[in-house]
Amino acid sequence: MTARDNDPFEIDTMIALRRDLHAHPELGFEEVRTSDIVAAQLAQAGIEVHRGLGKTGVVGTLRVGDGGRAIALRADMDALAMPELSELPYKSVVANTMHACGHDGHTVMLLAAARHLARTRKFSGTVHFVFQPAEEGRGGARAMIADGLFERFPVDAAYGLHNMPGLAVDEMAVVAGPQLASSDSWEVTFHGVGTHGAKPHLGRDAMTAAAHFLSMIHTVVARRVDPLQPAVVSACAIAGGDFRALNVIPDDVRIGGTARAYTPAVRDQLESEIGQLAQGVAATFGITAEYSFLRRIPPVVNDVDTTRRALAAAQVATGRPVVTDFPPSTAGDDFAFFGAAVPGCYVWLGNGPAVDGALHHNSRYDFNDEAILTGARFWTALVEQELR
Ligand SMILES: [Zn+2]
Ligand SMILES: [Zn+2]
Repeated sequence: MTARDNDPFEIDTMIALRRDLHAHPELGFEEVRTSDIVAAQLAQAGIEVHRGLGKTGVVGTLRVGDGGRAIALRADMDALAMPELSELPYKSVVANTMHACGHDGHTVMLLAAARHLARTRKFSGTVHFVFQPAEEGRGGARAMIADGLFERFPVDAAYGLHNMPGLAVDEMAVVAGPQLASSDSWEVTFHGVGTHGAKPHLGRDAMTAAAHFLSMIHTVVARRVDPLQPAVVSACAIAGGDFRALNVIPDDVRIGGTARAYTPAVRDQLESEIGQLAQGVAATFGITAEYSFLRRIPPVVNDVDTTRRALAAAQVATGRPVVTDFPPSTAGDDFAFFGAAVPGCYVWLGNGPAVDGALHHNSRYDFNDEAILTGARFWTALVEQELR
């Protein structure tokens, strides 16, 4: 028996690598160091490496036997533009840049599995290890697809995984149907006629219109969307007037926010209802409204058959019952573009209890190294079961 038989996933090396990535986080499309490390680790294991998809993206391809089925396993590599406030020995050395979503762990778990599979080769078919840049709102998945990801690497299914505090490190949640919401932005600008604050009747007040719009916008979800369909509309920014000119009613007031839904129909409805409300309020006040709705990412909706396959792998990886009633998150993930192109499944892997209440995107969040083994086992089981 060799050391590797006891440690098939090179766990100590992988923990050290995870901490190294944590200390050297990079923002979306800037994952130069990270993608160099990923490419080197794949190449060293004898895996075919393709670079440059979505700028800093990396695809590792492993073909074994003559199996005709191909699957893509995706890990995201980017960090967030925020300061790390923890006292960890491997805390970020890059100012205002931090792995606060655990993508350092995602990268390492997929690497650990890829290297293991390249050694053991107990499957027949093709697996593409997709290391995606820029998941955090910068459009990495879209960029890889635009660079021909699925033409160059055609697959029958795609899988994604995200860490989740609150579940144990040897626990997974795999659920069919909606997992993450669509994540879109909207903006309304009310164009009135600016005037002296003492003589509002001589102008057309965009400020008051904006106030009515803000108080009414929550009726879109409460009164217009089917109460059995989850949806969120939030106003998150407002701009108008000047605190140095408190006797001036401005011409324009601009409001922006986010809209979230789990189905294309509700997503369409939010787009039209927010706009209708803005136009209606503007008309009431005799002014005009300019409206835009920016579709950023669709919802992540797990395909039934692909989910069944992921569930079987999660069972093997954890050796305990898999959580199948985990509630969807109102956050978004651009894995949605992979799931829209091919049958997809996005699973949750426990990160242990939230330490000091730190959740994703918290300045003290840290991926739990204890989860690396479960994650690597999951990817391995999935490949060995899917590509028999
Ligand atoms: Zn995130
Ligand atoms: Zn994330």
